[in-house]
This record gives sequence, structure tokens and C-alpha cells, in this order.
Amino acid sequence: MTAQEIRQVVAATLADLLRVPASAPTKGAGASCVSPSPAHAPSAPLPPNAIPLEVSARHVHLSAEDLRTLFGDDATLTRERALSQPGEYLSDKRVRVIGAKGAIDGVAVLGPTRRVTQVELAASDCRKLGVRAPVNLSGDLSGAAELQLQGDAGSVQCRAIIARNHIHATPADAARLGLSDGQRVDVRAQSARPLIFADVPVRVRPDFALALHLDTDEANACALQAGDYATVQSPAGTRTAPPPPAATVITEKLIDEARAKQLAASGKHLTFARGTVLTPSARDVFLRGQVHITEDRLPINN
Ligand SMILES: [Zn+2]
Repeated sequence: MTAQEIRQVVAATLADLLRVPASAPTKGAGASCVSPSPAHAPSAPLPPNAIPLEVSARHVHLSAEDLRTLFGDDATLTRERALSQPGEYLSDKRVRVIGAKGAIDGVAVLGPTRRVTQVELAASDCRKLGVRAPVNLSGDLSGAAELQLQGDAGSVQCRAIIARNHIHATPADAARLGLSDGQRVDVRAQSARPLIFADVPVRVRPDFALALHLDTDEANACALQAGDYATVQSPAGTRTAPPPPAATVITEKLIDEARAKQLAASGKHLTFARGTVLTPSARDVFLRGQVHITEDRLPINN
């Protein structure tokens, strides 16, 4: 393979890794630290309590000084593609990340430059590199792993973290979903292999758009596909609390989708008598609406 071909493969792989599998339901570009703007709107509208999922592939933020050391005194970061966080972009620069046991080539450099150089890796990247990095929120380099970056003109020592998953929300999103800035919540990825991510920090700012940011390991773990989203399960620390008691028992014989929508609008905890049949589409309505249902508590003729 020629150097040109290798560069093409790396570029294609990067484009794939940086692809966003889900997009915001109403706002188009979701506010993201590192993910690009969604390319397409989802084919079906997301339920009102859905939090779009966005994936951040491994990447590097550089200080202006490290940019010059790696790529020369005249080096600048040229915008290749805008990311969903306002002002952030995928630059034209790529670096080799070198650890104790291995290296990863073609790691994307995001712009603009930052005060401190920071590498964000997935846990699987750390294994390949032979480093132990902490799971920190972006910007927190406490306990960060030591790595070397190699550019066209030189190399620098730097620090790496595994970026902690987090939710971005506007104040309006937060109010609608019952979230607050600094809160930690459990969220369920509604995907082919559903997973609950626990204690996910919530960040609320007017210039954000609603999104849950995962790294590539997390996205692969839940078999994420385009259009997948997450729903909030409970505020962290309260998930062992018992559900509230149901006020009434529903004794209808069949609950179809239309009836389920009526019931979902009437309460978040429903109890159905034994013998009541819920159609799959009705169950889907309750799942998407985060309606807690209890079945089989009482005989239908009680
Ligand atoms: Zn983010």
C-alpha cells in the first residue's frame, strides 16, 4: 500500500468513526464537545422524552505551543468540517499517539486550539497503547495518563483521559425532562442491545442542544444505530426507591395503541388487571412514554 493509499484509508476510517449515529429531534445540530453535526434528520420523529445519542471518536485538543512544536512555527488548524458544538471543528491535522506498548496513527486534531493539550481515548485505545487513563469529564486532567504525540515536525509529551459520558441540555430541555445542571441520572440506551448508563452528569447551558455523548466503546457496547436514543431512568441514587402506588386498576380486556396513548397521557404509573391484553404497539407507547406499568395484580372480575 502506498503512502497515498494509507492516507485515504485513514481519512475514510476517521470519517466513519466521527459519524454521528443519531441526531437531535428538532434542533438539527446537537451541541457536542466533539461530535460533528448530524448529516440527516432521523426518519421517524423521536418520542418527546428521547435524548439523541452522539458518539465521540478518539481525538486530540492541542495548545497553540504544542501545535507549533508538532507541525512547525507557521502551522494553523484548518477547518475540515464543523462539529455540532458551536465553534468546534475537525481540523486538517492528524497525529500519531504513542503509548508504552503501542501507537495509533491518524488521530484527529480538533480546533480551535485550547489552553492545555488533551487526548481523549476510548478504554480499548488505552489497552492498545498500554496506558491507564482515568474516566474524567473533559478538561479534568487529574490522574491523566502520559503519552507522546508525533506530528510532521516534532513530538510532545501530553496527557490523556477517557472522556466521561454526559448529557447536554438547554434550560428548556432540562425543564421538560426534569433535569438540572450538575445532576447525575441513569439513562437507558434504546438500542438493539439496550444498556443503562449510570450516574451520567447533566450539563445545562442555553447554547447546548439536547444530546447524550458516548465514546466509541460505549456506542459499540449498546450496538448503536442511526436513530437510536436514550431515556432517563431515574435520578442517580433514587433508582432503588419503590414505584409509587397505582391509584386505580384498569380492567379493560384489550389495550391497543390508541387506548395506550390516552392512558399514557393520564398518568405515569398504571396497573392492569389479570386478563387485560396489551398489544405490542401499546407496550411500545408505554415504553417510549416512560410509563411504569404493573400487570396481573388483581383478577379481572374482582
Ligand atoms: Zn459533549
